[in-house]
Amino acid sequence: MGAEWVTRHLDYDGELTWLIESHGPPDDPTPPCRPTCRHCYATQLPPDARERLVINELSLYPSDLVNHPRLEEVLRRARELVASREPLPLKLITSGKGLTERRLKALLRHLDQLDFHLLSTDPAERASLTREPVPRAERVLELVRRAAREVDTVANVVLVPGHNLRSLPRILRDLDDWGLRKCVVIPVGLTRYHRGGLRPLTPDEERWAWRVCRRLDRELDLDVVPCDSLLPAERFRPRLDPVARRCARALEGLEMRVGLVTGEAFGPVIRELCERVNAELGDRALEPVIVRNRYFGGNIRCAGLLTGRDVIRALQGVDVDVAVVPRIAVELGSFIDGVTTWEVAARADCEVIVGPERVEELPEVLSRLASGWSGCTGPC
Ligand code: SF4
Repeated sequence: MGAEWVTRHLDYDGELTWLIESHGPPDDPTPPCRPTCRHCYATQLPPDARERLVINELSLYPSDLVNHPRLEEVLRRARELVASREPLPLKLITSGKGLTERRLKALLRHLDQLDFHLLSTDPAERASLTREPVPRAERVLELVRRAAREVDTVANVVLVPGHNLRSLPRILRDLDDWGLRKCVVIPVGLTRYHRGGLRPLTPDEERWAWRVCRRLDRELDLDVVPCDSLLPAERFRPRLDPVARRCARALEGLEMRVGLVTGEAFGPVIRELCERVNAELGDRALEPVIVRNRYFGGNIRCAGLLTGRDVIRALQGVDVDVAVVPRIAVELGSFIDGVTTWEVAARADCEVIVGPERVEELPEVLSRLASGWSGCTGPC
């Protein structure tokens, strides 16, 4: 299997790194995690995920590179791999489950950055999600503090109501005291196949978490970065007006209706953008196509996990000539279920083009469309 296992990683704040995937090298993969965390994505996949999804087989299993029996050798191989690539820091993302003094020393010898999937700075709270014994969680947190004194250390905290949500202010202050540089805050993702007795955040809880992130980012040295799925409308609204004006100029005089395909998380941003563009043009030139993720269900709302089948279903219910699909949804060369943009075009009876990486670049894509360009068209 030739799957890439050291990949270019773009964080929510735009920081780029080389990331060693938790499953490690395909010819010597990391054994699965035991016990699995209550919120682990790998334990809530649809039953037919193995047959239907085109993602790397190894990503379907829960794993953490720190548990690799030949960790030092894997780290050395990763360092060799990136030596001839773009100069970016080399990092791994680990929950720290299984971290020991000896393994931490190996990480410090080979990596430029450690990203801890921490859940909490309180051992009992962390253990309630990781299913580690509390003294073990306490030991891991001590090692995280030590890492922060020796290497660039960042964290991500997945918020789970009933476990760590209300502790967010305390967690962020602790991470600041421990000397971490950054913390990304992510609401828990739960598919409809989840069986851990957890629930997603309510809209009120999302708004509260967003406000805590903004306030503590200003108060602390720690950079607090709410992930894109936490109130994207709040984050993008201030930037929408200039984008809408440029989109309107690009579409002026164009005799076609363009659908902007997105997941439910980014839906409010895209809807607002379309309204502003249409108001400027006095026409319904842009149509939001907000796709519900039926395949994973639950609160999985990001564009990156949309299946081609769900996109086709959504497009069949709207009247558009061209559909702009999110780049992140087709990064694998197709949608996550293997459906290609060509298939979507044929089944939804419209042209399909791949959108830009960032919403700010949408006007350029629309200009190219207006001048006859398209990145990927349906079969004639
Ligand atoms: S450490 Fe990560 S991959 Fe392993 S069980 Fe926990 S959430 Fe899943």
